[in-house]
Formats: sequence, structure tokens, C-alpha cells
Amino acid sequence: MIITWRGRCALCECPLDVVFEPEGGDEERWLREYEEFYPHQLVGTNDAVSLENNASRYKRAGGAWVRACKSCLEKGTRLRVNPRITGNLEIGLSRFRRAKSDAMTLGELEHWATSMARFFKNRRALENL
Ligand SMILES: [Zn+2]
Repeated sequence: MIITWRGRCALCECPLDVVFEPEGGDEERWLREYEEFYPHQLVGTNDAVSLENNASRYKRAGGAWVRACKSCLEKGTRLRVNPRITGNLEIGLSRFRRAKSDAMTLGELEHWATSMARFFKNRRALENL
């Protein structure tokens, strides 16, 4: 299994446009099984495994066009640089935090791929390949 991605989000550093390239027909079949088998729980979240939010989009940031993930574009996860707002957050006057990106992070992707490798190894042993 070869997992590639094209660049990282300029705002949240999540990998963009993740592509899975199975090596051979068996891995293709196992990938489909793994997606059904996997308990749809990443560490700390109850969200289903989805790379939908990792699709790349272009976003205007600081006078330039940057590549960002779909989640950052929709939720506006950019850091504020207004010193008054930042100061209010620091002294506890304001509790508003910026939105968190829903895209799969590199660490979550790594965890998912490691479990996938284990699953494939078991499958290979079961099917005596
Ligand atoms: Zn992002």
C-alpha cells in the first residue's frame, strides 16, 4: 500500500489530497474490508474515518492565495493577529477560541495506516499468501 498526499494545509498543516494506491488486487479488496472493519474511532474522537475534509482548496490569506483544506476554508481557522483580542483571551476576559480544523492530521493518518498494515498482515496470514 502506497499512501501519498500533495502538500500540507497552510493553516492547520494537515495533509492534502490523500491518495491510497493498493499494490495488487488483494490489497484493494482488503482496503475495502478494512474500511468496513475499522471501528470508526480515531484516538480521542468518535468521528468516522473520513478524508473528505482533506480535499485541497485555495484560500485568500494575508494577500496571497494559499492551499488549505476544505475544513479550514469553511470554518475559518485562521489565527487572529489583533493584539486586543489576543490580550483579552490571555487575561480571561474573552473565552472565544478559534475553530478547530476537522481534517485528518498527519498523526491520525499515520495511526490509521499502522492499523491498516497490521490488518493486512493478519489477512495475509489467514489467506496463506
Ligand atoms: Zn487546514
